[in-house]
Amino acid sequence: MEQKGILIVISGFSGAGKGSLVKALLKKYQNYSLSISMTTRQPRVKEENGVHYFFVTKEEFERAIADNGLVEYACYCGNYYGTPRAYVESELAKGNNVILEIEIQGALKIKERFPESLLIFITPPNGDELKRRLEGRGTESAEVIAQRLARAEEESEGIEAYDYIVINDDLEECVEEVHRLVDASRKVPIRRKELIQEIREDLKKFKKGAK
Ligand code: 5GP
Repeated sequence: MEQKGILIVISGFSGAGKGSLVKALLKKYQNYSLSISMTTRQPRVKEENGVHYFFVTKEEFERAIADNGLVEYACYCGNYYGTPRAYVESELAKGNNVILEIEIQGALKIKERFPESLLIFITPPNGDELKRRLEGRGTESAEVIAQRLARAEEESEGIEAYDYIVINDDLEECVEEVHRLVDASRKVPIRRKELIQEIREDLKKFKKGAK
């Protein structure tokens, strides 16, 4: 039986390497689709509209909220970020696993609205490594880095809400680990309701005396 895809939330501190992880996962395996978020943040150098994000104004974002066009949204460091609904629904229906690379408030809303979603938290091995990665990226000012480290400390309070925590030390290993978790999660009964129902229906025939 064709199985619907699962909704996978990948979160982690800014600088944890989620972006590289997701990129490598999509490159290596076929059955993943990445949702492109909408944001009111300014594009960074090399970021393209419709590729990294849909960059919109505050008014456009608020219209999307009012039209029920987002499955979740949150405010992060002064900007709105949200997940467009249409893409998520159509990819899941096609059987693809849809990845949402989103922060924790959004992740919690997804779990509430889609109890079958899979929440994975990605972290560097420790705090010093996180600071090193943020500084090494060279795209943010010292002030923004400090803001993001402070936010990481707050976010660390919510890690227990996730289904899994994965350390991103070696990227290759991290990709494999996440893929194995997704694969195993597709076999958890809560995500195989249709199959279970089909087996039950099938078994009923014996009760009616079929041979
Ligand atoms: P950045 O500005 O570094 O691209 O993203 C900041 C944070 O917003 C990251 O933790 C990223 O995962 C999160 N984020 C990106 N898109 C969304 C979204 O659609 N919804 C929510 N809730 N968070 C998002």
